[in-house]
Amino acid sequence: MLVTDVVDLFVKNTKKELKNGCLSYVDVLLYLCSDFKTNKIQMAHKSGFVNIVGNPNVGKSTLMNALVGEKISIITSKAQTTRHRILGIVNGEDFQIVYSDTPGVLKPNYRLQESMLNFSRSALTDADVLLYVTDVFDSSEKNADFIEKVNLNPAPLLLILNKIDLIDEEKLIALVEKWKTLIPRAEIFPISALEKFNIDVVFKRIQDLLPESPPFFDKDQLTDKPARFFVNEIIREKILLNYDKEIPYSVEVEVEQFLEEDKIIRINAVIYAERDSQKGIIIGHGGKSLKKVGTEARKDLETFFEKKVFLELYVKVEKDWRNKDIKLRNFGYQPD
Ligand code: GDP
Ligand code: MG
Repeated sequence: MLVTDVVDLFVKNTKKELKNGCLSYVDVLLYLCSDFKTNKIQMAHKSGFVNIVGNPNVGKSTLMNALVGEKISIITSKAQTTRHRILGIVNGEDFQIVYSDTPGVLKPNYRLQESMLNFSRSALTDADVLLYVTDVFDSSEKNADFIEKVNLNPAPLLLILNKIDLIDEEKLIALVEKWKTLIPRAEIFPISALEKFNIDVVFKRIQDLLPESPPFFDKDQLTDKPARFFVNEIIREKILLNYDKEIPYSVEVEVEQFLEEDKIIRINAVIYAERDSQKGIIIGHGGKSLKKVGTEARKDLETFFEKKVFLELYVKVEKDWRNKDIKLRNFGYQPD
């Protein structure tokens, strides 16, 4: 902090007039030594949790990545891929924004989805700023309950109307009107996360709304999740892209070894299937499918870690893992 900044703060906080354009050293020293006032100097920093909620596929991950500026969340066109609560952190000199990208708000139909829903619910309770993301095709009827909760939540609420690159202006105006009626307290931001249109406006508004607070995380950190988490997410993304039907939602990935050496990272991961038949499909004829998943995942991992990666994938059968609380807990979910 420069001397001139201290003088500015002094004048602002004590409402004292500057005499002849200068302060006595005693005044400034008294100011700096006072606990109360020293705290005020630190309080110029802003930090907060910004939680992103909304239905699957509306563009939450794309938006978060645009806001964070790094590919840290997994983006695919299939629903329910983001099962974890991912934190991305944006640091500025005098602010820190902590984003969480939560799963959709579908009604649960088995225990895993119930557990995913808990992440969404908890996102409502600890947000400093809430982003409710919807897109130009999203229906508001299927989650009226959730919208009501969002409406009653005390946190500042930004309604992000995404994918406006896909409709004309007339339709957009009608949609904005509709959302104004549905969630009157929301500030509405029409954006295109994909084309990065209006992202800066949203970012600026979030920054304005952050409460004054010291940073929550070490400012050198990009995320609070360990490297293994990203390995898991990248492999899961490749499974989603390579297999149809029930396979992606019947498997879970566990990283058993993550060994970083000087020039290479050695990773062993297990894909857990529920049935032998699924194991067969995952491996494929002559191991072809599994090899493809492995190669694609390795390439992404090498880009992500900026290092050579040796990836070994195994497939194991773990019957009915989706309904077992203990197993779910091992995989990082919190059934309760
Ligand atoms: P999430 O499930 O809410 O996290 O949604 P994703 O971020 O995974 O996005 C779902 C799909 O919508 C992906 O295919 C994205 O490329 C696409 N998408 C996201 N934002 C936009 C946008 O602004 N415009 C268009 N046209 N597509 C988008
Ligand atoms: Mg997502």
